[in-house]
Amino acid sequence: MDELDLYEQILDLSAPWFVEQVQLNQHDNNVAIFIACDLDGRLNCPKCKVLCPRYDFRQRVWRHLDTCQYPTLIHANIPRIECCEHGVIQIEVPWAEDKSRFTTMFESLVIDWLKEASTNAVSRRFKLSWNAVDGIMARAVNRGLACRKMSAIKHLAVDEVSRKKGHKYVTIISNEKGKVIEVMDDRKKESLASFYHSCTKSVLNGIETISMDMSPAYIAATKACIADWEEKICFDRFHVMQDLNKAVNEVRKSEARHLPQGFREPLHRSRFSWLRSKETLKQKHKKQISALKNIAIKTARAWSIRQYAATIWDYRSRYWAKKAWMKWYSWAIRSRLQPIKIQAKSIKNNLWGIVNAIVHKKNNAGAEGINSQIKVLKVKARGFRNKERFKSSILFHFGGLDLYPKKIPT
Ligand SMILES: [Zn+2]
Repeated sequence: MDELDLYEQILDLSAPWFVEQVQLNQHDNNVAIFIACDLDGRLNCPKCKVLCPRYDFRQRVWRHLDTCQYPTLIHANIPRIECCEHGVIQIEVPWAEDKSRFTTMFESLVIDWLKEASTNAVSRRFKLSWNAVDGIMARAVNRGLACRKMSAIKHLAVDEVSRKKGHKYVTIISNEKGKVIEVMDDRKKESLASFYHSCTKSVLNGIETISMDMSPAYIAATKACIADWEEKICFDRFHVMQDLNKAVNEVRKSEARHLPQGFREPLHRSRFSWLRSKETLKQKHKKQISALKNIAIKTARAWSIRQYAATIWDYRSRYWAKKAWMKWYSWAIRSRLQPIKIQAKSIKNNLWGIVNAIVHKKNNAGAEGINSQIKVLKVKARGFRNKERFKSSILFHFGGLDLYPKKIPT
């Protein structure tokens, strides 16, 4: 086997393509493979597959996997045909996708690396520009989205995530398997509504539950686009408890201002203990709370109300779930603690959606998992230069997409 046969086999070439020449360019530090097309006659139009006459050639170069220590380039004169319907058009080659400057094998290797490392690291590793690596990622996502089958989604989780400090947000929509389906701009009504508008009617009708925070924007979008929304919207437990935690914190901060000097510092130091769930309260947190509960009595009262709310998420019947929450509400609204009363009113107004979450047993746990992984991604990438790159990166890593290029049939 000579080097021409060897590269033909490595590149999996078949007629009309063949390797014409292989050069080791030690001066330029690369291996150059020259491929030619053996057809004298007519070629198929890549769009309509009709046999068409040749028009001319275009010289092109692709980066391929390295040959040992040498970067390897494929050179070829690619015929253009003249189709009656599609005009002058370049034919497809089996080693690369249309418009890519890299072979499919090279793109697949870069995709493997992008799964493990940041764009910066991959661009250094392959001596590629940042834009080239970014282009490979964007093509991978577009490829995955194009072949994705959105047959049925039973559960949706809607969550916001910040792109940058200073209120730059995107809305993340994920499914029951914890895979990101779509990333939309901002966290407005239109953000979620435009996702609903992009779905077919049968996909929309198949959605049984939608888990979200009590954001008026997401509620309004769902009301406008989903039938029976009042039975499908589930307000996420994590967000409800987060709002209550904020209220407890406000009560603690305001109370600290009125405490004798010697108690302010211990109350400040205990700030995270008051926000822990019962399951994560360790001995040291319990000690802090019991040492302060007779001094910071407002904080202790707010904390008890919050702890009680954490225990009433486990009902099967709407009747008992509603009854438990109304009992909680009557305590919270009479607490004489303004931040708690504000949350109590909001919970009462949205109780229908909390009850849905309880009986359907739905929450944003999967979405929160994605959220924390996105935070790791942001740290690894040291921020994202623009919104589109951020969105593309989320779909690349968490979309469950088939990202790899397929072999193009000759
Ligand atoms: Zn055509």
